[in-house]
Amino acid sequence: MREEITVPRSERGLQQEAAIKRLAERFAGQKMTYRITTLGCQMNAHDSEKLAGILRDIGFTEAEKEETADLVLYNTCCVRENAELKVYGRLGYLKGYKRRNPRMRIGLCGCMMQEPNVIAKLKKSYSWVDLIFGTHNLYRFAELLEEMYSTDSQIIELWDKADGIVEDLPSIRKHTFKASVNIMYGCDNFCTYCIVPYVRGRERSRRPEDILREIRTLAEEGVREIELLGQNVNSYGKNLAEPVTFAELLYMVSEIDGIDRIRFMTSHPKDLSDELIAAMRDCPKVCPHFHLPLQSGSNRILKRMNRHYTKEQYLDIVRKLREAVPEIAVTTDIMTGFPGETDADVEDTLYVIREARFDNAFTFIYSPREGTPAATYPDQIPEEVSKVWFDRIHTTLEEVMNARNTARIGKTLYVRAEEINSHDDTMLTGRSNENLLVHFKGDPSQIGSIIPVEIDEQMTYYLIGHPVGGPCNA
Ligand code: SF4
Repeated sequence: MREEITVPRSERGLQQEAAIKRLAERFAGQKMTYRITTLGCQMNAHDSEKLAGILRDIGFTEAEKEETADLVLYNTCCVRENAELKVYGRLGYLKGYKRRNPRMRIGLCGCMMQEPNVIAKLKKSYSWVDLIFGTHNLYRFAELLEEMYSTDSQIIELWDKADGIVEDLPSIRKHTFKASVNIMYGCDNFCTYCIVPYVRGRERSRRPEDILREIRTLAEEGVREIELLGQNVNSYGKNLAEPVTFAELLYMVSEIDGIDRIRFMTSHPKDLSDELIAAMRDCPKVCPHFHLPLQSGSNRILKRMNRHYTKEQYLDIVRKLREAVPEIAVTTDIMTGFPGETDADVEDTLYVIREARFDNAFTFIYSPREGTPAATYPDQIPEEVSKVWFDRIHTTLEEVMNARNTARIGKTLYVRAEEINSHDDTMLTGRSNENLLVHFKGDPSQIGSIIPVEIDEQMTYYLIGHPVGGPCNA
């Protein structure tokens, strides 16, 4: 049975506040700096916002680069081997800087720390790491920091399961006008390639009243756009004392004044209900974008992945979404090189890409993760074969994306200006309602506003347009 986690402003939250206060007194006037590097998904990115919020409350400021920071933190990911190798590489690189700067401390947290083999390796070969904690005790960051500074010794604290959700942690957002909000933690799906259920634990939903309170506070602070986060938002609320569906939550969030856009991430196709599709159609604030991981278009491989849907069921969901919300953009995740995959399976994936007409996709080559069933399958695919399939998938995806984007030329999209374009400071970069990346002429005073932009050109992964009106509430 899944746990329901409902922790009000708690003893634990108060303990953190007290630790933050003591650390602030300890470091007053010392101009301490930090640098956080985040690997992996948006859940990790949001966790890093919380870590940064705690450090800000202590009085640390962000350093320009980690080489000069007093506290270097890596919020790690274990979904792919590359991300893990990067962490080990950076630790080796930072060792010399740490020797020259006695104030430097190095901390590691996130999913990779929940893997026992990683901890064994760190203990054996990376003695210069000062602080190690995992995904379940992130809220204890301030207390762990205090222990690290007080004892001046390596602190390792790892829990193999969560003991609750602590509300009201401080957080620093990259943008003032948009924010992410966790609605649930963990995953119960156990896809055979995925390490997440082992490192993030079982599904736990936040109570709707806690989520709504957080969003109301964000709206009062000027936030206009909310992204609801969970490993599988479609199964939100099933195990609350008073069950609530994700669709019901969307209706509730839609009622909040000041919020003009609602997004969410990520959905599992097997749990996608008609009720949710209706909510997307009926709530104007819910953006017409759906990220629906496909992983493979082969029924045989989907079964081996333990995904619980077929390519026919997947395509049926996409058809229903497009019927209900004609302008919707559908994006996906696709993996190739899964054990036992053949040319014929890849052909099935290409078929689904063409039929679903994806607007974008994250594509990647399977890498075995120790502790998952798929890592033990005997029929692993050589990398050179996976690379050929990867290229074919990419080529097909780009054909589909080009066709989708070409059809948008001459149309007006409503784009929230997010930042000054990194190549041309007379242009702004933003996201349309459909979550498409759009560049257009504008000035910094428009950042945060929604601008109608007519599309002139498409470049596969982004669109270029010109504004056809002033800021509006689309
Ligand atoms: S749904 Fe599957 S792929 Fe997604 S986090 Fe859960 S186990 Fe991993």
